[in-house]
Amino acid sequence: MPIRFYNTLTQKVEDFAPAHDNTVRMYVCGPTVYNYAHIGNLRTFTFQDILRRWLRARQFETLHVMNITDVDDKIIRSAVQQNISINDYTKPYEVAFLEDMATLRLQRPEKIVRATEHIGEMVALIQALTEKGMTYESDGSVYYRIAKFPEYGKLSHNDFGGMIAGARVDVDEYEKENARDFVLWKQKKEGEPSWDTPIGDGRPGWHIECSAMAMKYLGDTLDIHAGGIDLTFPHHENEIAQSEAVTGKPFARFWIHAEHLIVEGQKMSKSLGNYYTLRDVIQMGYQPEAVRYLLASVPYRNKLNFTFDGLKAAATSIDRLRNFELRLKTDKFSNGSPEDGDKRSAEYLRRFEEALDDDLNTANALGVLFEFIRDTNTAMDSGAFFAANVAPALKLLDRFDEVFDVLKPTVAEGGMSDEEIDALAAERNAAKKARNFPRADAIRADLLEKGVILEDTKEGTRWKRKA
Ligand SMILES: [Zn+2]
Repeated sequence: MPIRFYNTLTQKVEDFAPAHDNTVRMYVCGPTVYNYAHIGNLRTFTFQDILRRWLRARQFETLHVMNITDVDDKIIRSAVQQNISINDYTKPYEVAFLEDMATLRLQRPEKIVRATEHIGEMVALIQALTEKGMTYESDGSVYYRIAKFPEYGKLSHNDFGGMIAGARVDVDEYEKENARDFVLWKQKKEGEPSWDTPIGDGRPGWHIECSAMAMKYLGDTLDIHAGGIDLTFPHHENEIAQSEAVTGKPFARFWIHAEHLIVEGQKMSKSLGNYYTLRDVIQMGYQPEAVRYLLASVPYRNKLNFTFDGLKAAATSIDRLRNFELRLKTDKFSNGSPEDGDKRSAEYLRRFEEALDDDLNTANALGVLFEFIRDTNTAMDSGAFFAANVAPALKLLDRFDEVFDVLKPTVAEGGMSDEEIDALAAERNAAKKARNFPRADAIRADLLEKGVILEDTKEGTRWKRKA
């Protein structure tokens, strides 16, 4: 079975393959760098990472482009308040965002592109729209005339037929009820950054940047355009209107949107006191891989209820996975006929992959994995798991980690390396042999404090990091 995704455009689950060669041309709307990303933003980026990783696991190449919005209404307002340039204002947040991506183990897209470095491309696209009669000017600003694009509303599945022609909106973000001719180019305002261009001295509206940058790097028709569900309207609807009016071709074949995140059953908001950045959560003592696991574990089309119980459960799940990996790698299994065990691993691997092929059903994939672990532990306990079964079992675990990437613990800055832990564990063994138990206990307690658990088994001492 091929990979299937739910396409917002057709409202159907469809088989996916790239249009041209083996490369998936994919554009995702990146962050607006006016603040730290919150966990709701990061849910969307984690979904995009899972999407990217699964495409690659299935042997596709990716040409994945993500933009950074470093000019918009909110950024300008904040920079003006602080009396600094927009570049000085956005830079630290861009750095912080890339750090958060690394902390959550989100793979870097092949290209990360900034809006302010593509003003020329945006102006050219607006000029092309003007040549097609899609724009008009008013008070020095340029607007998109949506009445000239009859398909407007096809992504968000809204009928905008009854709209008042000529009504305009200048802000970048607005609700469906306020669908209007949207601004492509805003006339310069006193005290605001602007660019002097052939279409006037001013700055771009928010929507034009994604059309311009996506088509520059990926061509007229993308295989996948992804983003958070809240971007469907107006942002993605406007991207379609801008791009298709010029090219006459479909802008994206697949539109894939991740649902919202809520916190403890409620909408996340600063006023409710349930607004969290990744930094907040990590400062509370949670491991990044537990956050990643929780964000990845709910299929992207479901609302994700972020709870602290859920985070603890995620840490427990990771612990179970690591214990299983440790058992596979350190237990001594006897030689025997591996046939049944290998068949078991292959069957679970097939089911695991089938779950992800099915519109990235991460919950089902995890369900299959834990069933496999239970089953395999039972076989191990009853002596029905043999040395030759280890490699196929690890293969499934590797496949899992290729996508979920939570098995390797995050080593905190200044934390102990594996080699240091090995050395201390060996020192403790020597102390035990010399019957210096106070020293052996002290090493054990010291390691525990640093998040390392020693386990004495009949095969010797092994250690693991706490999740
Ligand atoms: Zn965008």
